[in-house]
Amino acid sequence: MGVEYNKVLISDLKYRWGSCTLKGTLNFNWRLIKAPMFVIDYVIVHELAHLMESNHTAQFWNIIEAQLPGSRKAKDWLKEHGAILEESF
Ligand SMILES: [Zn+2]
Repeated sequence: MGVEYNKVLISDLKYRWGSCTLKGTLNFNWRLIKAPMFVIDYVIVHELAHLMESNHTAQFWNIIEAQLPGSRKAKDWLKEHGAILEESF
């Protein structure tokens, strides 16, 4: 995507799948390991896109769609099944 990040952390995030700081640190919720690959890809692309566009503007979603056509499916998956990932099993 042509962006540079500082570091990547996999951690125990509460109530979110990923985040991105102004210093370019990307955080991912370890529970994503239980999600399908296309969903993991979406969360990664989402956080990388925040390095270009910090807010969820139309431009932001255009970047996502250009990088990952059909990303809607991943968003819907998280909405529908995200709670399952929160369960510990
Ligand atoms: Zn976001």
